Amino acid sequence: MFNALMVRKDEETGKTNAAVEEIGLDDLPEGDVVVAVEYSTVNYKDGLCIGPGGGLVRNYPHVPGIDFAGTVESSESDRYKPGDKVVLTGWRVGEVHWGGYAQKASVKADWLVPLPSALDTRQAMAVGTAGFTAMLAVMALEDHGIKDGPVLVTGAAGGVGSVATAILAKLGHEVAAVTGRPETSDYLASLGATQIVPRDDINETTKRPLEAETWAGCVDAVGGNMLARVLGQMKYGASVSAVGLAGGAALPTTVIPFLLRGVNLLGIDSVMQPYDNRVRAWERISTDLPMDKLETMMQPATLSDLPNLGADILKGQVKGRVVVDVNA
Ligand code: NDP
Repeated sequence: MFNALMVRKDEETGKTNAAVEEIGLDDLPEGDVVVAVEYSTVNYKDGLCIGPGGGLVRNYPHVPGIDFAGTVESSESDRYKPGDKVVLTGWRVGEVHWGGYAQKASVKADWLVPLPSALDTRQAMAVGTAGFTAMLAVMALEDHGIKDGPVLVTGAAGGVGSVATAILAKLGHEVAAVTGRPETSDYLASLGATQIVPRDDINETTKRPLEAETWAGCVDAVGGNMLARVLGQMKYGASVSAVGLAGGAALPTTVIPFLLRGVNLLGIDSVMQPYDNRVRAWERISTDLPMDKLETMMQPATLSDLPNLGADILKGQVKGRVVVDVNA
């Protein structure tokens, strides 16, 4: 038997409740690899799935946790053997298929990636889905060419923003970090941000479709008004990697930034990434993300902390990356 954070739904009231339970291997969904999970994390989607409405969960009872890292315990796949270190992000694990908030997980081999030897399982989950997505966002900017000048990161003190800031700074870019929490300024500077931009400076709407050409690229975790405003501040031909919607799903903009400034809006999806892209991104993470900076982003948690942490991340109150030691 082993521990899992199980979300159950009361069919009469429709309310969900998350609590740590003991389950067995036979309870796990079908898969061709069983992984002894070591670490998982708390992402925005996890906050939705743990929360009272059930968020993106498609079947109950459910073990959330959209990512995990651990050691292969048994495998029917030629790609993995017992003892291999692996990492998983995406593929609707933790939403449709039981996820990482358990000491064991049973998944399809295709969803896993071998952990690069330079990373351990704890570091891999300090990166997690948020950091993996930040790397994809930076790679997309590189594919389209990053201009000279400051690269903007929005939602900078959050998970995606923290990792994007550290990677861009390590790659030698000047990073302007947008935050609504001035108390995180020292933290963001320690990750390599050279400019802290108060959220209110960029979040307000404007009637002007174009403003001064300011940003050489942008990783945007916020969406909404902020993304609309940023589009009008990009340098000619620069790109924005749109990652998230922490500030809202609506995009109140016009076609003008695209027509008159040739701005590229690049959508980043970490969920259905093909195997080769995932391997490439994890290799880049192992070389381009400074591990000392990763340590400063981490806060530890256990399975029983998750209900509270899920609520915190939805309120935008989590700093950096929460790493869940499922065996603690
Ligand atoms: P976090 O909650 O850790 O970070 C989001 C940050 O956005 C907050 O820390 C805060 O930063 C800022 N923020 C929150 N609310 C608002 C608001 N109302 N207006 C402006 N800024 C706000 O989440 P993650 O970094 O893990 O994820 C960020 C987004 O990216 C989420 O929407 C998530 O669903 C999405 N995502 C998408 C993925 C993909 O595949 N496309 C993968 C992973 C995440 P600060 O305090 O510094 O202002």
